[in-house]
Amino acid sequence: MLSMERIIEIMAEQGLRITDQRKTLARLFAEAPGYLSAKDVYDYMGQKYKGLSFDTVYRNLRVMQELGVLEQIVFEEGVKFKLHCNEDHHHHHMICLQCEKTYPITFCPMQLTESPDDFQVVKHKFEVFGYCKDCREEAGQIAEEQRSKAVSGKREAQ
Ligand SMILES: [Zn+2]
Ligand SMILES: [Zn+2]
Ligand SMILES: [Zn+2]
Repeated sequence: MLSMERIIEIMAEQGLRITDQRKTLARLFAEAPGYLSAKDVYDYMGQKYKGLSFDTVYRNLRVMQELGVLEQIVFEEGVKFKLHCNEDHHHHHMICLQCEKTYPITFCPMQLTESPDDFQVVKHKFEVFGYCKDCREEAGQIAEEQRSKAVSGKREAQ
């Protein structure tokens, strides 16, 4: 994952002015374990910078995304941002619906897709949602406990 220093470096290399706010954003994402919605970021930044507008926060998130510092994923509940994966090349994601852990996948289905009528493709999205090993094991254990509780409950009732 990108460190806070590396994020700042990338922003500076691209000619972005490194304001205190942008430093704070760099730290926030470098330390965040998973995804943050624009609202999460705004709530955090609003505590530190009084009178900060949501638009300013959102604009900064967009800029950081365009620079390749952040990646955005569209969840059912809306758009969320996270630090760019360690994958430099074009990639897609498998995302755990429980813990939001993200695995980059380098397979791209676009090359298998025909473009009808000379359709010019500008961008595409391919995201796979499911449950990671840890979350599946945890869910399995909970189900197991519930089953054994139900069984012993039945025995007690008899
Ligand atoms: Zn990625
Ligand atoms: Zn998980
Ligand atoms: Zn692709």
